[in-house]
Amino acid sequence: MTGRFDAVDIIRAKRDKGTLSAEQIAWTIAAYTQGEIAEEQMAALAMAILLNGMNRAELSAWTQAMIDSGDTLDFSTLKDAAGRPLRTTDKHSTGGVGDKVTLPLAPLVAVFGVAVPQLSGRGLGHTGGTLDKLETIPGWRAEVGTAELMQQLAEVGAVVCAPGSGLAPADKKLYALRDVTGTVDSIPLIASSIMSKKIAEGTSALVLDVKVGSGAFMKDLDSARTLARTMVGLGLDAGVRTVALLTDMDTPLGLTAGNAIEVAEAVEVLAGGGPDDVVQLTVRLAEEMLAAAGITDADPAAALRDGRAMDVWRRMISAQGGDPDAALPAAKEHDVVLAEHDGMLTRLDAMGVGLAAWRLGAGRARKEDAVQGGAGVRLHVKPGQEVRAGQPLMTLLSDTPEAFARARDALDGAVSIVSGAPAPVRKLILDRVDGQSGLVIP
Ligand code: URA
Repeated sequence: MTGRFDAVDIIRAKRDKGTLSAEQIAWTIAAYTQGEIAEEQMAALAMAILLNGMNRAELSAWTQAMIDSGDTLDFSTLKDAAGRPLRTTDKHSTGGVGDKVTLPLAPLVAVFGVAVPQLSGRGLGHTGGTLDKLETIPGWRAEVGTAELMQQLAEVGAVVCAPGSGLAPADKKLYALRDVTGTVDSIPLIASSIMSKKIAEGTSALVLDVKVGSGAFMKDLDSARTLARTMVGLGLDAGVRTVALLTDMDTPLGLTAGNAIEVAEAVEVLAGGGPDDVVQLTVRLAEEMLAAAGITDADPAAALRDGRAMDVWRRMISAQGGDPDAALPAAKEHDVVLAEHDGMLTRLDAMGVGLAAWRLGAGRARKEDAVQGGAGVRLHVKPGQEVRAGQPLMTLLSDTPEAFARARDALDGAVSIVSGAPAPVRKLILDRVDGQSGLVIP
């Protein structure tokens, strides 16, 4: 490995806006994964890529090299309990505040006979992680071996679990480095990071939920569209039927941002209720996932209303040791934020709410930190509602009351109440990107 190329030459080439060959990229990723390229060299290369981008061929080679750095899963021989071949479909969200959609979505799609292997992450920063949420269910475990994953998919149809450590190890190392070197916000690096994991996971169809707005990586529609087109292109190139929805993340999704409180809200959706925006997005993503798997005549909204999705949820949670009927953890302390004056709530900033939930203990600052199951923010109103002075806007929840002041700081400027203003119109689904939309070269 050592000596085939020189890391400094590769860094210089990218620094000077050159193009790397597929061989140089494959060598770089393999050498970095094996510790032969130093962290500071990879940091310099990541910064050169952030500044100068990668063309389509480089991006495909980079993504493939990350996939090749570890194991891949293969669901092509998967069969259901009756021995019939099972299609798989997956969803990935780029991360948002209050985004608990995976929880009702995975069992909902499984109702229609399409298997959902949903390998998910823990939260870092202001957006929550699906595993942190599910781990508030007593007994539930995120670690599932490959044989168990296959068996649960065949018997229940849906699994939400932690990815095995062997999937795309290059990304794990590189993402941790990007996190501390200011090189996360690069469209080619984000796209290759997400898609290498999804392609290694072996799904045959994938729906991407690319969040746009203050609480998302992508703050504006144009950059979100570029990211979506880049990821869809990478998926299609790898033979995965891939589409993306661009969805609003200026305002939190639903009425909760935290862990246990988000699970409770997801269960409301599975019981046929829940906030309109969560239901709307869950149903639309289910339709897209089913269409990507070749099913266009399903009615996911009906499966939420009539309890079929709830049945799969209960079996999915039980299969991983969880008790779907157990009480969820509740925060020990609370602090209610009141409206300062009368008027129309015109804005409730997702980033402010996400940061507040994080500071209350719902998220972690470092990978090894624990999260508080009951912590978070419960919203009582959403933009478009009239409020009166003194009315509760949200309740802050934490086991550590000293966190309330810092959470309130995070909310400073996050709420706009304007007297006499018209109700703002929120468009939840902003755009859709598929193979016809073309691959954008960042
Ligand atoms: N999520 C990922 O998995 N990778 C990124 O680079 C950004 C978000």
